[in-house]
Amino acid sequence: MNSTELENMIRAILADNLNGAVGSKATPNAIFHQVEDAIIAGYGAYRQYMAEALALRTKIITALREELAPLISEMSERAADETGMGNALDKIAKNTAALANTPGIEDLTTRALTGDGGMVLFELSPFGLIGAIAPSTNPTETIINNTISMLAAGNAVYFSPHPGAKNVSLWLIEKIEGIIYRASGIHNLVTTVANPTFDATREMMAHPRIALLAVTGGPAIVDMAMKTGKKVIGAGPGNPPVLVDETACPIKAAKDIVDGAAFDHNVLCIAEKSVIVVDSIADRLVDNMQKNGALLVSSVADVAKLRQVAITEKGEANKKLVGKSPAVILQAAGLSAPFAPRLIIVEVGKDDPLVLVEQLMPVLPIVRVKDFDEGLALALVVENDLHHTAIMHSQNVSRLNRAAKTMQTSIFVKNGPSYAGLGIGAEGFTTFTIATPTGEGTTSPRTFARKRRCVLTNGFSIR
Ligand code: NAD
Repeated sequence: MNSTELENMIRAILADNLNGAVGSKATPNAIFHQVEDAIIAGYGAYRQYMAEALALRTKIITALREELAPLISEMSERAADETGMGNALDKIAKNTAALANTPGIEDLTTRALTGDGGMVLFELSPFGLIGAIAPSTNPTETIINNTISMLAAGNAVYFSPHPGAKNVSLWLIEKIEGIIYRASGIHNLVTTVANPTFDATREMMAHPRIALLAVTGGPAIVDMAMKTGKKVIGAGPGNPPVLVDETACPIKAAKDIVDGAAFDHNVLCIAEKSVIVVDSIADRLVDNMQKNGALLVSSVADVAKLRQVAITEKGEANKKLVGKSPAVILQAAGLSAPFAPRLIIVEVGKDDPLVLVEQLMPVLPIVRVKDFDEGLALALVVENDLHHTAIMHSQNVSRLNRAAKTMQTSIFVKNGPSYAGLGIGAEGFTTFTIATPTGEGTTSPRTFARKRRCVLTNGFSIR
């Protein structure tokens, strides 16, 4: 390197530091060195954005849908490679759903009341700058879904991506920021930091300019957010049981369960984590699950080996195996398979740790019960009041109704794979932030909007 090149390099670094952003000064982007700089830039962007017309929000969302679509394969491969969890093919389906099926501003419906006293409008307005925390299990899906939902509602977003998915997340946030800038002329409506550590997340949570925390992740991070005193939309863990009664079609139920539980190696919080099946249909269900690519591990000793590698001594999921393929898990347990299974299935008792712990692995425990009532009681125990997701296969409408009402989960899927609850292959919009402890359920733009009341006295009632 000659002296001129060296001088130019030093100038570029100094310019970037003054600017606070990483990258060349000509293209200031969303990725900052300091949390403080990212938040100040994001807040400034929000102030600009709130003065703009609603049409600009739609222009941005349309541009995101068009320009991110060609990047879906690459981001899915990057996410699978970097996190070592799930598989690129299923991540393509998840990212596609997040991009195409997250609602835009049409989700923000206004309510009006009129009468002799005049008119009242209830409008959905932005909170400001949202601090959004994303998990390693759906890193890019959550960033896409949160960006569309939060910007549709008029907010800006500071992202805390998961350190385990840092590279793909930063790459995506930079792309998103560029698309938004080209569509709107506003920089930094999405921001983050170059080194998204746990400490950076803590600093962000405590910052006074963060108006709202939207946390998608495990119990520790949701609890931490709750202690900040800020408003939190908390999307915490689940442990979805799938209940199968004797009236279900064993062929369809088996296919749906294997499809849902094998999807992205079971890293989804909504995925089937255990099967509770009425004894009289259990053999037919298990047979059909095997016909759909599931490997039944039946020897007690082999099941013990699987349990030992899947669950740690502390009774937690073994993080080294979360989201790994069935082949990797079998190998870790010292077992082999005559074919490449999509899913591993085991029959266990109702108190087995494989049933009670959220494993996030393609190892699906099956528990037999004598009847629907016993099954529903067990499903409640397994779901553990997380109010997340439950699935049921049955042709008995009153039982389906009773289970849905009793379980009180944010998502209840009847006669389909769990991912139907995300609007994948089924009706309904897509979300990757299912607010369970705080109760908002499947989030959409209106979840990230403040409800405001606007009153006009003595007029505008034309009835
Ligand atoms: P995780 O809890 O390890 O991480 C979530 C985020 O929190 C990450 O960004 C991480 O950096 C941050 N974090 C975690 N502990 C922290 C700490 N002590 N200080 C600061 N930041 C911290 O979650 P994960 O393993 O990536 O995701 C899996 C979990 O998330 C599962 O429990 C799953 O059920 C849940 N999840 C829930 C939803 C939902 O919509 N309800 C969606 C996806 C994942």
